[in-house]
Amino acid sequence: MEIKITPVRIRFDTIYIVQGDGIILVDGGDPKLFANFLKLVDDASIKPEDIRLLILTHGHWDHVGLAKEIKEFCSARVMMHKSDMHLLKDFPPSQPPGFTPWGKVIISLLKLYTRSLRIPVFDVDIPLGNDDFNLDEFGIPGKVVHTPGHSPGSVSVVLESGEAFVGDLAMNMFPMRLSPGLPIFGDDIQVIKDSWRKLRDMNVRTVYPAHGKSFPADIIVQGL
Ligand SMILES: [Zn+2]
Ligand SMILES: [Zn+2]
Repeated sequence: MEIKITPVRIRFDTIYIVQGDGIILVDGGDPKLFANFLKLVDDASIKPEDIRLLILTHGHWDHVGLAKEIKEFCSARVMMHKSDMHLLKDFPPSQPPGFTPWGKVIISLLKLYTRSLRIPVFDVDIPLGNDDFNLDEFGIPGKVVHTPGHSPGSVSVVLESGEAFVGDLAMNMFPMRLSPGLPIFGDDIQVIKDSWRKLRDMNVRTVYPAHGKSFPADIIVQGL
């Protein structure tokens, strides 16, 4: 099956449209930017009713902010890991600690940007545990796997063809990073590295981060 991957870049976030026999979305961006999302979906010539699933890689505000509107727009089911669902209720939204001095600066700025931001309320239709979730029923040859460390409930979407949509398990964009690599903020860098070992063992070849462009997985897995 041919898989088509369309990155929808909205300011700092990338939402991915993944098309096989069915269409799924990975991640759901900044809550202030739904108009940008609509335009880009239109540009991609996707019929909204064909989008069957929205997978949220984790519960941070910049990944779940559009979930309510996307759900209303296309009636996709929403999937995320149970361990991050409590983050949806936090006001202001919680931010993880920085791993590096620059990571700490960025987190301070993000706290300012989000100080009055409320995550629009939506229902999670498919709460995930730690087991893999096979995406066959959604027309996508691949699965959702638990890859914690950036947050407790972070997941990655891994296609049989070797592409992995990893949310914030990697970053490849200014002002976070100047080159592809591990995230500069999150819960636990050692747990992040364990998750990368899991992805390495699944033979992931190409990484699609939620912030920045895709890159070869070797850039990270060779340094583990
Ligand atoms: Zn995050
Ligand atoms: Zn993020």
